[in-house]
Amino acid sequence: MPLLPPKLKHMESPKKKIVACVGMSGLAGPPRLAPTTDPKTVIVVGAGMSGLVAALELERAGHHVQIVEARRRIGGRVHTQRARDGAPMAEAGAGRIPRSHRWTWDYIGQMGLATRPLYPAGLKNVALIDGKRWIIDSKTDLAATVDLPPEEKAMGYAGLIKTHVLDNVEKLLAAKVIDTPAWPPSALAHLDRLCIVDHLAAQGLSPAAIKLLTLGAFPTAISPLMLSRVLATYDRESLSVIEGGNDRLPAAIAAHLRGPILLNSPVRAVVQFADRIEIAVEGARPKAVLTADALICTIPFSVLGRVQFEPALNPAKQQILAEIRYTKATKVAFKMSARFWESEQLSGFAQLDTGAEIWSPRWSAGDGSGVLQFYQQGERAAELDAMDEPARAQWAMGHIEKAFPGAGRHVQESRSYSWQHDPWAGGAYGIPQPGDLFRWQGNIASPEGRIYFAGEHTSEYSAWIEGAVRSGHRAATELHEATFESHR
Ligand SMILES: Cc1cc2nc3c(=O)[nH]c(=O)nc-3n(C[C@H](O)[C@H](O)[C@H](O)COP(=O)(O)OP(=O)(O)OC[C@H]3O[C@@H](n4cnc5c(N)ncnc54)[C@H](O)[C@@H]3O)c2cc1C
Repeated sequence: MPLLPPKLKHMESPKKKIVACVGMSGLAGPPRLAPTTDPKTVIVVGAGMSGLVAALELERAGHHVQIVEARRRIGGRVHTQRARDGAPMAEAGAGRIPRSHRWTWDYIGQMGLATRPLYPAGLKNVALIDGKRWIIDSKTDLAATVDLPPEEKAMGYAGLIKTHVLDNVEKLLAAKVIDTPAWPPSALAHLDRLCIVDHLAAQGLSPAAIKLLTLGAFPTAISPLMLSRVLATYDRESLSVIEGGNDRLPAAIAAHLRGPILLNSPVRAVVQFADRIEIAVEGARPKAVLTADALICTIPFSVLGRVQFEPALNPAKQQILAEIRYTKATKVAFKMSARFWESEQLSGFAQLDTGAEIWSPRWSAGDGSGVLQFYQQGERAAELDAMDEPARAQWAMGHIEKAFPGAGRHVQESRSYSWQHDPWAGGAYGIPQPGDLFRWQGNIASPEGRIYFAGEHTSEYSAWIEGAVRSGHRAATELHEATFESHR
């Protein structure tokens, strides 16, 4: 997911304005479904955030739900990695929760979970640009970090980001289409033709300026329209994490469910009859067949092609399955004996011009220890994927050393995670790429008979927990409001 480049004083006012607008448009939290007079039996496939929220809301309304999950754990792409001593080490998947993601926060509140800020207060970030190390504070002129042509230099970083990124965010906000059926806005379709890097190049920006504007973990395959949407709903000033690990959110929701969660049970086939749904589940011997009135499918589209549907999914959805490209992401976390960087007033966070970031997710550990995590997004994640575990750690630490010299001396253990290698994810997330939004509109989430579709990839908030939560709630609502014959 994109981060705005390091916070600068002159960026504060446009950013604040944006956040205020989002706050005004999206105040409502998830509504409760009315109690049902027609309880249904429902299978939810997938125990990630979308499946858990769907199950919770359906049970609250009086339906009977069982979840079927391929992995041996719940949470899906909310996955906290723990150190050998059991303490949370780092987030392999979802790592930050912006305050503006109101539905996610609503569920965090309902579950009574404590949170803390992602960033430590008052410390400075590092940027690595063209191999040079910069310490970023309010006085740093980011435009000086690269060799810009004179006219771009004259605009400065603030002028460049305003003209080429934030003005589009303002246009989108002015259209008032976020969280309305008018998304995606056809009046802004011209911003969905190229990926952000090609769009900036077509605007005549130099490679140096493009590098500056796309610093950090930035999915450069998305369009300016999609980027504007992410930024319009992203409150960088209030990013938080859940105390004890983000996986406490799915765990808490699961603990509220009455129905069973079958783990280690990959669904291989879904057959739809006039009066019921049947699924074939592998793992159980002999292969189990489960039956229900309806099904919510939260399987990422990156791996859904391995499930056999009878009758086949409609051609429009099959076309999306063939086209969808999941963003790559690989992370390598190091448990550090000391947060030595704090003596230099550094936060442990850094942004690189290679589509990578360094995070310091355990900055509050009372014993002075810490974690540094290398987070590579985009096609370069494939370079890490090709390595074995020791080589990955060595490669990632090589980059961390450039941002925080001496880091290698403090490593106690390391852990990596490639979402491309995860057979139940097939990539990090299904954020739409140029043209996808308008081409897929109306088909990506549409129900097919008794099958309802959820998952971040079906949501306007794709690539976020917020997308999973909203899509789970939406699919539960669709199913709840449908009338169909029961097989019982
Ligand atoms: C590297 C990375 C960084 C991220 N950063 C952030 C962040 O900072 N903030 C944020 O809010 N979000 C972030 N996200 C996104 C967020 O994690 C996801 O949007 C969200 O967790 C997706 O939930 P889901 O329910 O849609 O899918 P999943 O969590 O993938 O759940 C789907 C479930 O279906 C299961 N499944 C798959 N196939 C089968 C099968 N055949 N049978 C049975 N079960 C099956 C899977 O095992 C999985 O448990 C990040 C994700 C990644 C990967």
